[in-house]
Amino acid sequence: MSTPRTVLVTGGNRGIGYAIAERMIADGHRVAVTSRSGAGPAGSLTVRAEMTDSASIDAAFTEVEAQLGPVEVVVANAGITKDTLLLRMTEEEFTSVVDTNLTGTFRVVKRAAKGLLKGRFGRVILLSSVVGLYGSPGQINYSSSKAALVGFARSLTRELGSRGITANVIAPGFIETDMTAELSDAQQKQYLATIPAARYGQVAEIAGVASFLAGDEAGYISGAVIPVDGGLGMGH
Ligand code: NDP
Repeated sequence: MSTPRTVLVTGGNRGIGYAIAERMIADGHRVAVTSRSGAGPAGSLTVRAEMTDSASIDAAFTEVEAQLGPVEVVVANAGITKDTLLLRMTEEEFTSVVDTNLTGTFRVVKRAAKGLLKGRFGRVILLSSVVGLYGSPGQINYSSSKAALVGFARSLTRELGSRGITANVIAPGFIETDMTAELSDAQQKQYLATIPAARYGQVAEIAGVASFLAGDEAGYISGAVIPVDGGLGMGH
């Protein structure tokens, strides 16, 4: 049993974020989720936050700190896709995905950092994707935003590693959620054919890794990229 921590999961009202929040509650942590709509799992504190807006992120942290204490584990999970081929991709489709997935993570981790430093403990867990390093046609915006999170976690590790703070990246492959349900049948079939495990992943398989990274035994893991992709991205 790990030390109970205060955990904040962004985008915890559905999909992978919801499953991570559920697992963290089962692990005995105090859990808050950010949401724009709907609530996190039973036993979590739901606070409103928009990833493109620093003020709303600041307000969300302030509310969590008041109700649960300083945030010790940050799971930057909220993310979007706006898939289309490069020649059709508008600048807005590129920048809005980067703004949510990458700059949103910056806003969240920056807001968390002072508290982590003060407590001389922190676990920063960033949700990237196999396509960040593997590449994916039609996802130049998304894969760029997700690849950047690797540099983010590694730079953070070098900046804050001596203060008891770790920063790691989870790189999920094809996980069954609303996000992947949006892919066309052709895209889904194409992915399935390339996954060595010959199946899609489940949200609980991501939540288990997040749980481990937040736990006491993961204190010497930092700057790592942990694939949870059935072997899809091997070697990338
Ligand atoms: P979902 O689409 O099911 O959920 C996305 C979550 O992010 C929702 O809670 C959503 O809130 C929130 N969110 C999106 N944009 C914003 C924003 N601007 N401000 C605040 N919240 C926002 O995604 P998944 O659960 O599938 O994915 C979670 C993470 O895992 C993402 O970062 C994704 O890129 C990554 N991932 C997912 C994979 C998969 O196969 N599913 C594969 C690889 C990576 P709301 O409900 O209000 O829209």
